[in-house]
Amino acid sequence: MNTFKDIELADELYGGLSALQFTKPTEIQAKVIPQGMSGQDVMACAETGSGKTGAYGIPLVSRLIEDPEMMALVLAPTRELAQQIAEFLRQLAKDCRTISTVCLVGGADIRKQLRALRKNPRIVVATPGRLTDHLKRKSLELDKTGILVLDEGDRMLDMGFAPQLNEILKFLPKERQTSLFTATLSEKIQKLSKQYLNKPVKVIVGEVSKPVSSIRQSIVQLGFKEKDNHVVDELNQRKGSVIVFLRTKYRTDRLAKYLKGYGFAVDLIHGGRTQGQRNKAIRNFKNGKSRILCATDVAARGIDVPQVEHVINFDLPMMDEDYVHRIGRTARNGAEGEAVSFVTPEEHRTWQTLARKYKIKGVELKGVSRDGSSNKKGRGKKRSEESEHPF
Ligand code: AMP
Repeated sequence: MNTFKDIELADELYGGLSALQFTKPTEIQAKVIPQGMSGQDVMACAETGSGKTGAYGIPLVSRLIEDPEMMALVLAPTRELAQQIAEFLRQLAKDCRTISTVCLVGGADIRKQLRALRKNPRIVVATPGRLTDHLKRKSLELDKTGILVLDEGDRMLDMGFAPQLNEILKFLPKERQTSLFTATLSEKIQKLSKQYLNKPVKVIVGEVSKPVSSIRQSIVQLGFKEKDNHVVDELNQRKGSVIVFLRTKYRTDRLAKYLKGYGFAVDLIHGGRTQGQRNKAIRNFKNGKSRILCATDVAARGIDVPQVEHVINFDLPMMDEDYVHRIGRTARNGAEGEAVSFVTPEEHRTWQTLARKYKIKGVELKGVSRDGSSNKKGRGKKRSEESEHPF
């Protein structure tokens, strides 16, 4: 499948595809769209930024056009991701008058959602928590749902959504197509697949569980108190948009304020901010009003900001997988990207674990033994960089 014309999609889709400037399918799209069109269950494992939303979205809309009775449900772990998916599907289906999309996420006005549901939307994009609320209120029925997509299934499990998924699945017809998208192939995800998917076609694209290959990764060894000064240096040295990741809401607020004091155009996003604030921050970042986005890992998944050139890990993540998701913000869809991580002596072991797990070469800690203990020579700021062989 070299072009979207090679597969028989419903005609109304081509306007949406060209508005999205999708001319050629990405690898995951080429592999998944034909399976999606055939109605088979799919389990797909793909790198971040590979075009997975189109991989399930294109056949989903096409099949809804062909079967006017059918509905589709897409579940995603975070509000931002759900909103982004809904926006993508709306654009894709812009010429399909019979298809409308509702997005049901927490933190948003429930009355507005109830009004939208009364218009019988054919596509529901939701986070599991808010969807469960609606099901309890009986404000929507899922008995005509012929297509179910679980996006970022691994993340939904990590976030403890398994009980809600069980609940929701009881409302769906047994005869349906289910697609599961995941960034990692953990045991938990295999179990989920066995539970809900029927003889799925398995599609794996890229080397899963590893950072994408075109990202140049480096570290800076420094003391905890040196991070503030050093991040200013890093930002001054870089052109283009930057996401700075931190561990906690408090640290994110604090750093954003500190950087504003230096005159940087900064916005911030974390779980403690209202949905309105989060949306505005993402909007500002996307349209270039703010060049820098300080974020906790809530933002690490799902935000599609194609122009991100740099990721700075001000703090290393608490969960290893988040390293992959964080740095996956750069190098979207084949572009080059750069990620730098600050590593304090307290974070030596965490870094060594990450470097080993994701086989990151050329970024060894200086003056630190293999078990993570430091010696004096390793103190102070040092940059270790993989410049010739980015993996
Ligand atoms: P996703 O992995 O779905 O978040 O997509 C990552 C980025 O790639 C988004 O900015 C998409 O708009 C873009 N993209 C996905 N598929 C295509 C395509 N076939 N042609 C051009 N851009 C694409």
